[in-house]
Amino acid sequence: MKRFSIFLLALFFTGSLLAQSPIIGISSYRSGASHVVGNTYVNSVRMAGGVPLIIPVTTDDAQIEAILNAIDGLIMTGGEDFDPLKWYGEEPLRANEQIAPERDEFDVKLIRAAVAKGIPVLGICRGQQLMSVAFGGSLYQDIPSQVKSSYVKHRQGDTPGYYGTHTITIEKGSILAEVTGSNKAVVNSFHHQAIKAMPAGFKVTARSADGIIEAVERVAPLKDYADGGAVIFGTQFHPEIMTNAGNPLFLGLFQKLVSEAAK
Ligand code: MN
Repeated sequence: MKRFSIFLLALFFTGSLLAQSPIIGISSYRSGASHVVGNTYVNSVRMAGGVPLIIPVTTDDAQIEAILNAIDGLIMTGGEDFDPLKWYGEEPLRANEQIAPERDEFDVKLIRAAVAKGIPVLGICRGQQLMSVAFGGSLYQDIPSQVKSSYVKHRQGDTPGYYGTHTITIEKGSILAEVTGSNKAVVNSFHHQAIKAMPAGFKVTARSADGIIEAVERVAPLKDYADGGAVIFGTQFHPEIMTNAGNPLFLGLFQKLVSEAAK
């Protein structure tokens, strides 16, 4: 009888813990007939104690609203180049790569609606660039041809993604400083674009040695966009690949998102 009671008690606590785990939406992309999310994102959310929920690509406002009502936190994932003409009014350079118009619109609608509702957001790679594009900033379409002072290799190519290749210098007092406990870190790098003009209300929290923006945080209320006041932060590097591979350095970024989502 006693053993059975303990079993029931354990079941109760397990159940209530699961019920409390925040649901973290992860934005997908289209590949042929499929909606795709990398397992590294899914697994990083699980490792941080969240419940991952893959969000299919849609541009329907009512669908987006309903999805946001079902999640507590949001990760905007990496991917294609944004359409520079449509989103920040620049002619496309030859080096601008493939554009995914449906995903552009999905990403912008999703992050604006999430921020308006006060849902915490972590943006990774394109997801960080999205924070600029969606809230009034702009991008370098191509670092090698546009940023003459840039000398760091930001595309590590076939070098394994779990392996950090360049340093970043981290701002004191930022989420990234809190997570790493340091003002320096070594990160992976898979990008030829980066934030050029910062959106109002955001702050740069890490740069590579050549000055490229590698992390941002929202630090003041957004004036020109609806803003529910939740934490919004981004990285140009890919912490999910390192986390999924067992490197504990950036697990705290996902734990931060999960703990903010639990509020
Ligand atoms: Mn980089």
